[in-house]
Amino acid sequence: MQINSISEYFDHKNLEKTLIEIKNQYEFLEVGTLGNSIFGKNIPRLTLGKGKKSVIYIGAHHGMEWITSALLIQFVSDFCKEYKNGTNIFDVSTRVLFETRKIHIVPMLNPDGVDYAIHGVNEDNVIYNRLIKMNDSTDFSHWQANARGVDLNHNYNAGFEEYKIVERIENINCGATKYSGEYPESEPETRALCNFVRFERPELALTLHTQGEEIYYTSGEKSSAISLSLAKTISRLTGYKISFPSGTAKYGGFTDWFIEEFDKPSFTLECGLGENPLPFSDFEKIYYKIKRALFIAPILI
Ligand SMILES: [Zn+2]
Repeated sequence: MQINSISEYFDHKNLEKTLIEIKNQYEFLEVGTLGNSIFGKNIPRLTLGKGKKSVIYIGAHHGMEWITSALLIQFVSDFCKEYKNGTNIFDVSTRVLFETRKIHIVPMLNPDGVDYAIHGVNEDNVIYNRLIKMNDSTDFSHWQANARGVDLNHNYNAGFEEYKIVERIENINCGATKYSGEYPESEPETRALCNFVRFERPELALTLHTQGEEIYYTSGEKSSAISLSLAKTISRLTGYKISFPSGTAKYGGFTDWFIEEFDKPSFTLECGLGENPLPFSDFEKIYYKIKRALFIAPILI
């Protein structure tokens, strides 16, 4: 069952409202904050479970991919319901999962970008004129970056210097997509996430994007055997095919940073199939495909 407040326009306000609703129903859900976006919006962080081994799921690095926030909140809601009822799901006991694992969820890393993509940009925005110039249009429905035009998934310290060369060649600047920022973790959103991950040291990180029904796989030096077997399992559970990042997707992304920094598995899930932004009518279909992997991945580590 889809939860009521997940709707066509799952913006930051809707997310916060939904979190209050879920928290009111399930007191065992830990609702915290990762930090604030560049325009001061709270970036929620949720935790399920109290085990030692942890995983992290991250949604909406990219503004127009806000459907990934809704997918993660649906998962949180379903997990809470199953746990409260003491039921098993996909042969996994949510009670055992809760006792032995910790699942951290950052449903919307880029709240400003999501709100731009859903609502557009108002004239009262302090950088309104610059934004219109950057975007080359008043239509922000394809906006991916954060509030000031940095693509968060190019702002990590993985291949950053090489990517700066690519940016110069391809003339990539501040804008709707692809600009990596002045230096790694220059943006409050990525800095907050990296600090949390450095502190918490999860065993596995899954980052949700759209679209393509693919699992981007890159291997670290030591963890490649376990990473590949995990990628294959997640591929089997979702029906998504394993692929290898190419072009600009190779640089500065969270997944590569996580693998390089911790030598632990991390995957980018390109959810759904079609043209971005995916229509909200695809929500149930996408969730159905990834749900099993979200429940089972924590026990694979
Ligand atoms: Zn993306």
